[in-house]
Amino acid sequence: MLNPERSKLLNLLDLNKDIASAKGAWLTSTCGEVYLDFTSQYGAVPFGFNPDFLQQQLIEQVNTNAAVMVQPFFSQGAKELSDLLIEIAPEGLKYVTFACTGAEVVEAAIKLAKSGTNRKKILSTLNSFHGKTMGAALATGNAYYKEEFYSDNASFLHIPYDDLEALELALSGRKIAAFIVEPVQGEGGMIEPSPGYLQGCQALCAHYNTLFVVDEIQTGLGRTGELFVSLKEGITPDILLVGKALGGGMLPISACIANEKAWSTDFGLRHSSTFANNHLAAHMGIGTIKALREQHEILENVNNMGHYLREQLEKLVARYPEVYTGCSGRGLMQGLMLSPWRDPQSYVPCCVYEFGYAVAIVSSYLLNQNHILTVPTLNANNVLRIQPNYFVEQGMIDRFIEALNEVAEIIKQGQFVRLLRNAIGLTAPMPNQDLPPLRLPRQAPPEPTQDEPYRGRFAFFIHPTTEEEGVDGLCAEISQFSPEERERARTWMNECSSLSPIAVPAYHIPCFASDDGGYIDGWLIASFLSPRDMMRLNKAEKTKLLTGYIEQAKALGVDRIGLGAFTSVISRSGTLVADSGVDVTTGNSYTALTSTDAVRQIVHHSGRSLSTMQLGVVGALGSVGRLCLLDLAGECASINLIGNARNKDRLSTLKSLAGEMLLSLVNADKPNAIPILMRLASVGIDQQWMVARSGDQSEEAREQLFDAVTAHYQEEHGSMLGFPVILGNGITKQLPQCDVVITATSNGEAFITPELLGANAIVCDVARPSDVASGLRNTRPDVIAIEGGLVNLPDPISFGRSNIVGLPEGISIACLCETMILTMQGVTGNYSIGMTPSLDEARQIFAWGSQHGFATYIPEEALAAAKQYSTLEPITNTDVHILDAAVIPLPTPMNSAHSSDKKTSPTEKTNNTARPAH
Ligand code: PLP
Repeated sequence: MLNPERSKLLNLLDLNKDIASAKGAWLTSTCGEVYLDFTSQYGAVPFGFNPDFLQQQLIEQVNTNAAVMVQPFFSQGAKELSDLLIEIAPEGLKYVTFACTGAEVVEAAIKLAKSGTNRKKILSTLNSFHGKTMGAALATGNAYYKEEFYSDNASFLHIPYDDLEALELALSGRKIAAFIVEPVQGEGGMIEPSPGYLQGCQALCAHYNTLFVVDEIQTGLGRTGELFVSLKEGITPDILLVGKALGGGMLPISACIANEKAWSTDFGLRHSSTFANNHLAAHMGIGTIKALREQHEILENVNNMGHYLREQLEKLVARYPEVYTGCSGRGLMQGLMLSPWRDPQSYVPCCVYEFGYAVAIVSSYLLNQNHILTVPTLNANNVLRIQPNYFVEQGMIDRFIEALNEVAEIIKQGQFVRLLRNAIGLTAPMPNQDLPPLRLPRQAPPEPTQDEPYRGRFAFFIHPTTEEEGVDGLCAEISQFSPEERERARTWMNECSSLSPIAVPAYHIPCFASDDGGYIDGWLIASFLSPRDMMRLNKAEKTKLLTGYIEQAKALGVDRIGLGAFTSVISRSGTLVADSGVDVTTGNSYTALTSTDAVRQIVHHSGRSLSTMQLGVVGALGSVGRLCLLDLAGECASINLIGNARNKDRLSTLKSLAGEMLLSLVNADKPNAIPILMRLASVGIDQQWMVARSGDQSEEAREQLFDAVTAHYQEEHGSMLGFPVILGNGITKQLPQCDVVITATSNGEAFITPELLGANAIVCDVARPSDVASGLRNTRPDVIAIEGGLVNLPDPISFGRSNIVGLPEGISIACLCETMILTMQGVTGNYSIGMTPSLDEARQIFAWGSQHGFATYIPEEALAAAKQYSTLEPITNTDVHILDAAVIPLPTPMNSAHSSDKKTSPTEKTNNTARPAH
């Protein structure tokens, strides 16, 4: 129960070790494994673990029964250490306040500055790190201890590091109490400022009467090869902060050392801490300072080894520029920057880099494979922090550099699987098996030419729609994982997604060519969240996730965003992100029209005609289902709209959709040739009849139209037999009637089981994850089922080995294709947004798609099966219950015309047989 989140993170990266003992540069685990330390507990262990001389001094002090904690008195050690600190600190510093941690002395400096200057603002630099405490004084219920020192977020201002102009601008208002700065930004990635920066800071602070606070908590006491960077740079801070190394790696102690100008009586009277001035901790400080002052060889070693280390790092960067971007730092605080991970095979390396785990994954590899301990810097998680102790030997550095060479080779050769397997904790070695070639995106021509004009950049939002899909995308070599290893990988991915519920760039497509000439480039932006994870988010979390996706896209400078999978669902078909500042599409238009196109082609190949078939649409209230319906309705003999039994009250919405469909049919080009209209016309419901009753564009008017049509049909025909539009929530009764089924729900799991389908049905499943249960092929050989919304690409590439949802190369999902088509076409504005996108617009997109070389994909075997239809005897499935066409699960038209209809019990509605209207 020691911070379970941290344990989870450490376990996730296989960076969790039980350390039993430590000496010098070496850590020994409870299992007896020995590790070489290159971290020094973030710089707090200067002489290695348990250095003999400090160990001895500690024992001696304990044995003298020294007064260790004797507040309100000052311990002897604290007095002695304060004298020593004043002696070694830059000129003018004379008042010491001790604490235990770095953050506490930063607090002390802030309080000092506020009480002494009567100014309210504290200025620091971007990318700095000064600690993590917050608010203890504010929680204290006594104004005396906080009034003068009060801070809130607005009291803190930040300017870029190493920017004197920005500093002057900020100071010139004369409102800044103190400017606090690190001589080398440690946690920011070991960043050194330009020569003269610190002196410039001091001069400006003096000029504008702002206290100059130098935070040497990490740089101080030898880490950079000097006692203090301030001394080396010839600066005299008003307040100097020391911590970390001051305790010699043995006990916690820190100090805030102020000059006369900075000191304040109020602070002196009101500030204290129970554990400050600890005698033993102070003795570790005394021992540390004496060792550094008296044994010159220590700082000499820091300087020599610092140079050697830096030289080796620079060589490494020169050798592997594609792996290591650069190195920086001073003395024995060095950082090695990792270049972004880009894997043409898989999205995961890029994602883990963007999640900020890449250095941690490298650290995990170094720890487990090379037995060397390193960690990332806190602010810059792409920087490996390299902080060995002051006694580090050349041989140790060589061993470390060798390990970094090994890592570089792995990354250079794209063997991310080795790093990932290590992080997942899979110990069996990975065979270096060659993977079959994959058609990857081409590199874009460096300069767009007239033949190949550049047409824009898109971003497409993805996430795994099933757990299997997530695991399949882990790495190209996933098929070589044993079932147990795959299971571990699945758990690992789940943990990654729970710890990082954010979206990051996952894959770059540098060049995607149109058949019409020109090319586009684009990015897949991914989160690891499953549909279930996404649906579980509350409103604020959904907004945060979507905003994160959009921000990433904007940062990449895209012209258009496509909302893949459930990013479309949680953004309410894009409506929630329609004003994001970048043009958006859900891709629903092209998804719908490639699905209807596939249906047409299969029906055609089977020698049948839609004009004799009943089309069933499951999920017709969704935007894809609705477009499929509107696009095909004019060609089919009859329509069956199947609603969700869990949403029975949406029956009236289905009726309104049916009304809309009828209106769109009467307004079509040749209404007289439309089978449904011909049927209705036989009872006098013709174009004129309907137009006269069409009312306004409201849902209610459409519902009323449909009610009027059914009532009239009933009246004229004497029954509902042969009525061409059936609707209801009774999937078990409705589905078996359909010859063609299009299903497009966002149910999240399969619910259409084989026995629900009619004999010889043609099923197009547009849902992802599928609505249709697997195993159809074995149990229902008479049925042809295809996945809708799949597209043959004009540029037959693969988007990595997993190709988003595991499709073969050259084939992709229509929503991504719509995003690409719109980008190629260069059109602006949102498309396919909301629940009722325009059919005309959808048809326009389909036409643009053909122009750019996109074509509906239908598997060969589906076409072959369709061809056999014409020669086969129709198979009658005896289990299938064929509904009497008169039994229409509709409420009586009279009831439904009134708003009281909404109160009718849903069971009543669905089970009602149609009765005469009057
Ligand atoms: N200031 C600097 C420059 C630091 O590097 C750190 C810690 O890394 C701190 C302050 C905070 O010190 P602590 O973690 O002891 O509170």
